[in-house]
Formats: sequence, structure tokens, C-alpha cells
Amino acid sequence: MQRETPNERAIPSPDEGAPEQLEPGLWRIQLPLPFALRSANVYLIANGEGGWTLIDAGLGLPADEAALHAGLAAAGARLADVTSLVLTHAHPDHIGLAGPIHAAAGAPVYMLAGEDERMYRVWHPAEDPSHDATTPLVALYAAHGLSQEEAIGSQKGTERLRRILRLAPPWALRLLEDGAELRLGRHAYRAIWTPGHSDYHLCLLREDGLFIAGDHILPGITPNIGWYPDARPDPLGDYDAALAAVRDLPVRLVLPGHRRPFTDLAGRVDELRRHHRERGASMLALLAASDGGLNAAQVAAALFGERLRDGDDRRFALVEMLAHLEHLRLRGAVTREEREGLIYYLAASETTISPMAPAVNRAAAG
Ligand SMILES: [Zn+2]
Ligand SMILES: [Zn+2]
Repeated sequence: MQRETPNERAIPSPDEGAPEQLEPGLWRIQLPLPFALRSANVYLIANGEGGWTLIDAGLGLPADEAALHAGLAAAGARLADVTSLVLTHAHPDHIGLAGPIHAAAGAPVYMLAGEDERMYRVWHPAEDPSHDATTPLVALYAAHGLSQEEAIGSQKGTERLRRILRLAPPWALRLLEDGAELRLGRHAYRAIWTPGHSDYHLCLLREDGLFIAGDHILPGITPNIGWYPDARPDPLGDYDAALAAVRDLPVRLVLPGHRRPFTDLAGRVDELRRHHRERGASMLALLAASDGGLNAAQVAAALFGERLRDGDDRRFALVEMLAHLEHLRLRGAVTREEREGLIYYLAASETTISPMAPAVNRAAAG
């Protein structure tokens, strides 16, 4: 899921909500979200042979379904005209209407291989609760300093979302590999594996320079990069590399998963990479100044303070802090130790003298 980090909430959303034709054969439809981030984008693309491709599928509330139908109608299409669906990643705000979209006319559902496994494990778990992805997550929140109540709160949120989501059945999926060419009607797209925001996040580059970005790159808000159990060990390192990998692609228009399309891909990539370098440096400075290190919840409280307003804020901030702390740890800039059931991070000794020294910046940049 994408969530605004507290320091970015002040930026007003320019969104107005109506379906918008970006160019002939390309529509942006905003589906509402009951979160601080108020809507998710779905893109409707004419495939040149009568059918349409949908990119992403919203959260799955009745209001999302109504907005999708209104968007299709504005483009002169119906759900049964959708001949393919592409899911950029398996966060709930992008997959919720995949079931009904597929059911309307049997549209195949494309996603990157690997992302499907997590989608079903988190959002449609087996009856056996030992397979439930929320159990290790509750333990993680508690071990890194959240209260038991806030740790358990994550389970309630997941259960609520499970009741909203209408996933596509496994037999509808067509799994893509990194670098694969996807032909949808007259258009050819290249699948690009962009891990970080999710492990098998998919971006697509169309032959004419349209870039389907999902939540890899968003304007005005920083995509949430979180560390999760049973996921890749260095999501921030993955993210930095995946940003660098798309920076210089021949892109004329970026279609993000939230907010408005934009043109300056390289500029936005540079901003996001700089943001994470700076955040890594501030965290290292905090740890260096502390006596005996800090746990991830303390780091989040020191960086965000009162801006973390509820349990959701604190959980999202905590996994973001962990992505940074683990990234620094894998590069030798911090160490980790357990005391009385809690995990603390300490600045490694050679970095304690000057956390802003060039060596440290290199470590933070990965
Ligand atoms: Zn997301
Ligand atoms: Zn999202």
C-alpha cells in the first residue's frame, strides 16, 4: 500500500476526481480510497484493435466500482470491452477490482512473476493460520518497539481489507518475467522489474515512451519503502538500484499509481534518491548521538514526533525506518543488538565521529 509519509501531508492534492483523457486512446480514472491518500489511478488504454487495457484495479469498494464504470463510460467503453488487465503490484489499492474486471469478459490479468505469491498469501491466506502473513508482522512491530496494542492493530486492518478486496482467481493470471515484451493489441510494452516498494513491482515502458510507473515513482509524495518479514532483505538498496535503472529510459510521459502524470522522470528519480540519502544520514546522526542505540520506533518518534498521529502512522513509519536501518546495517554503518526482547540499532564505531563524513554518505547511498 502507498501511504503519505507525515512530512508530505501538507502538500494539497491537485486531483479533482473526474475521468480525464490524457491523449487519444489514454484515460486516467481516479478510484477513491478511504485513506489519507485519497485516490488510486487506473489507466484505460485503447489497444488499437477495438479492445481496451486497464492498468491497475483500485481497492474494490462500491465507490471504486462506480468510478470505474463512470470512467469507462466517459471513454465510450464498457467493462466487457476490457481485453486485458495489468497489475503493477499486489498492494490492496491496486488489485481490489481485478476479480470483477476479469469476470466481465475473461480478460487475462498480467503481473510480474513473484508478486502473485504474496498477493494470495497476504490477502487470501489459507485456512491454516500459521500461514497467515500477519502473525510474523505483529511480532516484528512488537520487537522493534511498538506497543502490543499497536502491533496487533495491523491484523485488524488487514482483516478489514480482506473483506473489501475482490481478487482475480489464480487461473486468470499471466505472469511476466523481467524484460519480457508484452503485446497488447497494437502496442508493445517492455516489462521492467522495479523492486523496493514491493518485491516484484512491475513498470512498463511502451514503445512510444509512455511509462507505467505504478507506485515506483510518484510525484509529490515519496513511495513507502518498508522492511517486511519473508520479503527481500534490502528493499531500500533494491529501490535505489531500480530508480537508477529507469532514470534514463526514453520516457515522454510517466503514469504514476497516484496523483497526476508528469514528464520529468530523471528529475523525480534524482529527488527520490537524494531524499533517501539524506534520511539515511539523519538516522545515522541520531544513532551516533544516542547512548546505547535506539530501536526503530524510537527513531521514528525522533524523526516525526507528533506527526505520527495513530497506530497506522506508527506502523508505516516503523517499517520505513527498518528499511533504512537494515540497509545501513548490511553496509556496515550500523549494528543491531537485542536487549530485553527489543531490537536496538547502534552506529558502528568508525561512523560515530562524524556521521556526515563522505564515507558515511557512500554507505547510505548504497
Ligand atoms: Zn503500493
Ligand atoms: Zn498505491
